[in-house]
Amino acid sequence: SMRVGFVGLGAMGYHMAGHMAKSHSQCLVWNRTKTKALQHSQEFGSSVADKLQDLASSQVLIFCLPTSEEDETIVEQVAPHLAKDACVVSCTSGAPAVTKRLSHSLKERFGVHFLDCPVSGGPRGAAAGSLTCMLGSDSEEATKMVLPVLKTFAQKVVHCGPSGAGHAVKAVNNALNVTHLMLGAEGLLALQKLGVDPSVALDAINGSSGRSLQTEQRLPQEVLTRRFGYGFKLPLMAKDCRIAADVLKEMPSAQLLPRSAQLVQDFAKEHGPDADYTYVVKSIEKAAGKEIS
Ligand code: NDP
Repeated sequence: SMRVGFVGLGAMGYHMAGHMAKSHSQCLVWNRTKTKALQHSQEFGSSVADKLQDLASSQVLIFCLPTSEEDETIVEQVAPHLAKDACVVSCTSGAPAVTKRLSHSLKERFGVHFLDCPVSGGPRGAAAGSLTCMLGSDSEEATKMVLPVLKTFAQKVVHCGPSGAGHAVKAVNNALNVTHLMLGAEGLLALQKLGVDPSVALDAINGSSGRSLQTEQRLPQEVLTRRFGYGFKLPLMAKDCRIAADVLKEMPSAQLLPRSAQLVQDFAKEHGPDADYTYVVKSIEKAAGKEIS
């Protein structure tokens, strides 16, 4: 079978690489904190790469790192050792402009394909192997090669367009996600002041046209329970909103998403590096002087 590799065994990558290892007998994993790679090998039968260069034999190499910055640092260390026509796939939620630049320069220097394929579905979707992938690719040949590997952890792969298109769609998706969450929180706080119980309001809204994934799942499961622990870090969401704001510059008349993307930056500053993205609701509650309960 194909030789595959995975870099970045975090909240998302750990399980994505697990699904890959279950269907590929030759699956190498590398993680900055090596203990996680050793644990992965125990749990899923992957093989641990000691050094990044050990990944050189991979035909398809997947990254799931925080930002394009880490993507670039790591790919520059590995790409010179990869075979021509090998594919590096960034499942990181990255920046379209960096991805485009990397894709062109890696192809030119090493004959290596660099595709963007960010994911949606959260840690639970990663564990279930039911993620949605947003693919950006300039090469039909590369797309064909990576699809079966992506399908090990994705239920749905949408080819969004050329290099960078996947990362652009993902940024807009995440801006919509957190905006829907903040909209729901504002609505519930106002209704609560009128004497409407938030869970009653959600019951009505979720049978109505204002519902969203946030009103159906995140608000009841993370906010009403006061759990605030979905598993996606607020600084990563703030990074996605910065990327989305860049994408929205294509549309200078846009008002709503740039405004909420800015709010998320401000809210991220109020909380620590490990805060869950659902903490934006805590910022909204603080400003309102009342909790949703
Ligand atoms: P985590 O913080 O859980 O994991 C980050 C991973 O990157 C870890 O393996 C970490 O290694 C590694 N890493 C961090 N910095 C470096 C570095 N400088 N060099 C090498 N490796 C590094 O993040 P997530 O898994 O949550 O997110 C990964 C990507 O997926 C992000 O782009 C995020 O926006 C996106 N995403 C996240 C979702 C979620 O719900 N969590 C959903 C969809 C997309 P170490 O173990 O050593 O820290």
